[in-house]
Amino acid sequence: AKRMGKSNYQFYRDSINSKITGNIGMESLLRKAIDRNEFSLFYQPQIETKTNRIYGAEALIRWHNEKLGMVSPGEFIPLAEETGLIVPIGEWVIKEACRQNIAWQNAGFNCFPVSVNLSIRQFYQTDLTETIKRIIQDSGLDPQFLELEITESMAMDSETSSVILKDLKNLGVKIAMDDFGTGYSSLSNLKKFPIDHLKIDQSFVKDISADVDDRDIVATIIMLAHNLHIKTIAEGVETIDHVEFLTKHDCNVLQGYYFSKPLPAQDFENWMNNWKKQ
Ligand code: C2E
Ligand code: CA
Ligand code: CA
Ligand code: CA
Repeated sequence: AKRMGKSNYQFYRDSINSKITGNIGMESLLRKAIDRNEFSLFYQPQIETKTNRIYGAEALIRWHNEKLGMVSPGEFIPLAEETGLIVPIGEWVIKEACRQNIAWQNAGFNCFPVSVNLSIRQFYQTDLTETIKRIIQDSGLDPQFLELEITESMAMDSETSSVILKDLKNLGVKIAMDDFGTGYSSLSNLKKFPIDHLKIDQSFVKDISADVDDRDIVATIIMLAHNLHIKTIAEGVETIDHVEFLTKHDCNVLQGYYFSKPLPAQDFENWMNNWKKQ
């Protein structure tokens, strides 16, 4: 038993050590990733139910590193958040999304907002509004074509959040509440915050076909949002059943694999061209 204990302990130490060195390894690679041009943005279309047209696109970051290969945001965003690297990375994301959106406009595509995800650390940076203002001005983008996604849990401190959101809103950008229904949310925040879009979390959408409760939740969220004059975007729309249910319940916008997975900019352009033709 003693030996077992020791080997278990040893195993535990080793796994902790490799986790720490793994993270340190990843951290130092992450530090260099911007300068080495290792990040890119993928874009996922959002489709308006009423018109079947492209309503917007969400920009999602990807990291390709020589040693690590493709690292998903689920793996490196928490580390970037912990180390503060999220601030320069997040700035890069906003810049790149604005640049790409201008490029699409110049190429003759219809104008639509591109949304970017803000992390909690970014959200509470005191110079966030100034930074975004500068990026928008430098890019030449009409601010209504940039959307910022925040989550309920980021907005826990509702007084401070509502001041930040109003400042951001004054820039002319759009605001989306992401992952709605998963966090500790106060419904009064929805009324207090200047929110344009409410994104229904994919966990509710996933079980629409199977689970009566999730159907009721989704229908209720849509009604609630509409009473507050907020438009709804459903995430994780994967099947025709999802599309039909959400359309029937007047969800404004749909996003998910049913239409397209997130794509590199060039593939997204091809996707848009095909979508127009159908
Ligand atoms: P999110 O903002 O909730 O983004 C939606 C995630 O769902 C994306 O994963 C997307 O690829 C995935 N998805 C889209 N459609 C479907 C579908 O039909 N079914 C399923 N099962 N999944 C779908 P991704 O790209 O791996 O991003 C994961 C999370 O990482 C994002 O969740 C967001 O919280 C974070 N993230 C991504 N890019 C950024 C970024 O630039 N900055 C920050 N701070 N966070 C980011
Ligand atoms: Ca999002
Ligand atoms: Ca989401
Ligand atoms: Ca999420």
